[in-house]
Amino acid sequence: LEVKSGGLDYDNVSFNYWRGKQGSVIDGFSLSVAPGEKIGLVGRSGSGKSTLVNLALRMFDVQDGAIRIDGQDVRAVTQESLRAAIGLVSQDTSLLHRSVRENLKYGRHDATDEEMIRAAEQANVHDVIMGLADPQGRTGYDAHVGERGVKLSGGQRQRVAIARVLLKNAPILVLDEATSALDSEVEAAIQEQLTQLMRGKTVIAIAHRLSTIAAMDRLVVLEQGRIVEEGTHAQL
Ligand code: ATP
Ligand code: MG
Repeated sequence: LEVKSGGLDYDNVSFNYWRGKQGSVIDGFSLSVAPGEKIGLVGRSGSGKSTLVNLALRMFDVQDGAIRIDGQDVRAVTQESLRAAIGLVSQDTSLLHRSVRENLKYGRHDATDEEMIRAAEQANVHDVIMGLADPQGRTGYDAHVGERGVKLSGGQRQRVAIARVLLKNAPILVLDEATSALDSEVEAAIQEQLTQLMRGKTVIAIAHRLSTIAAMDRLVVLEQGRIVEEGTHAQL
């Protein structure tokens, strides 16, 4: 899959985590996101927002309907090309049990250390990384995270994920509560970087607070896996 324009289409998608369960988590969901368009996705906890994102990244396959990127069914392309096309900051970041460097360059292996450090600085996490030392004595960007490495806090992990997405610069951005684990001061600084990154890109941003996504082109309100309202911030 070579993403040229970054259009994203949900075409009558239905999905359930297990078959035979009553009702659907995603229930006949259709949404056409134009290249460069920015969508804010809101809805109660459990309404299916993260599930929609996971489906686009093919963590699961849809049971009905189709998801297409630039007109190509995501089921027909490799995981690798999907990952290259979509930059994701998920709600709960899990990192690889590898070095911070490998985590940051995941999805952009050709990035230089200079580029990596710039992204970490923009995500307000460079100083944190410079202070890391794992039990094996590796430090800074060489320090390993997870199991036998250093334990990062939720907010630190989220900033690593944001640095990764800044570095990757993918044509489609999916931000699932991307700054929810950060304090308000750090959040404001990073939001500014994310806003710059969003320019010219196709974006789906999920947030509980309407204020963080008020500037999107279109807001979509989800309830039990269906769209119940749609429009600009002013209209809703
Ligand atoms: P929140 O705002 O709390 O993040 P959400 O809108 O992102 O909520 P989802 O995570 O998409 O909601 O969950 C939608 C429904 O699917 C919920 O009922 C949830 O319990 C269920 N669900 C989510 N992930 C799984 C999973 N891996 N296996 C089984 N059920 C799941
Ligand atoms: Mg969610």
